[in-house]
Amino acid sequence: MSDLTLELEGIEKFYNRGKPSEVKVLRGASLRLKAGEVVALVAPSGAGKSTFLHIAGLLDVADSGMVRHAGRDMSSEPDRVRTETRREDVGFIYQFHHLLPEFSALENIVIPQLANGKSEAEAKARAMDLLARVGVAGRADHRPAALSGGEQQRVAFCRALANAPRLLLADEPTGNLDPATSDQVFAALMDLVRDTGLSALIATHNLELAARMDRIVRLEQGVIV
Ligand code: ADP
Repeated sequence: MSDLTLELEGIEKFYNRGKPSEVKVLRGASLRLKAGEVVALVAPSGAGKSTFLHIAGLLDVADSGMVRHAGRDMSSEPDRVRTETRREDVGFIYQFHHLLPEFSALENIVIPQLANGKSEAEAKARAMDLLARVGVAGRADHRPAALSGGEQQRVAFCRALANAPRLLLADEPTGNLDPATSDQVFAALMDLVRDTGLSALIATHNLELAARMDRIVRLEQGVIV
């Protein structure tokens, strides 16, 4: 197996192709992520960072270029394989937590594991372990609305890691929090990522946070520099 968790090569993406409103968002963007490597993706708003993360995470397809997960070319795989790979190998975190409001913190982390075939006992044990690692085990029975913004985001991190992915993709994971909370929550995320040996690509505007990762790449004019 490849020691590269993720490879993107020459990724191009257009919106409204062929129309006067055409935008060429990505113009040959390339990136390699080694196993266990944590990379900051820094880009101004509108530069195409969400588009890039969605293509990397197999939520969207590029117009051209290659996406490999653990050495396997996903560009030519059928939807079924891409969906399976995404579900098993990729965890997503967004700026907003997107937790299910009618379920507890614990249940939000248990549900994706049940969907992946785990027993309820196994899923609960893993969920509690993850919650404890990010310091919110005491809030396991609370619904999202009863949690602070920082706690909601910590729970969302646990949900992203519920099925033990190899790759974490995060789009401004602390962008919705005040600076002090953002700092603490980000530290919790980094500890979790390091403990589990995940590869991570984390988009952020915050250069201080970016500096704590292994490497910083920038998305400018549709390419990674
Ligand atoms: P970022 O995450 O860096 O803010 P996005 O990847 O969301 O940037 O978007 C990059 C550019 O592509 C923006 O100019 C945006 O308006 C445009 N765009 C994104 N999605 C679509 C779409 N579905 N249709 C047309 N244009 C889009």
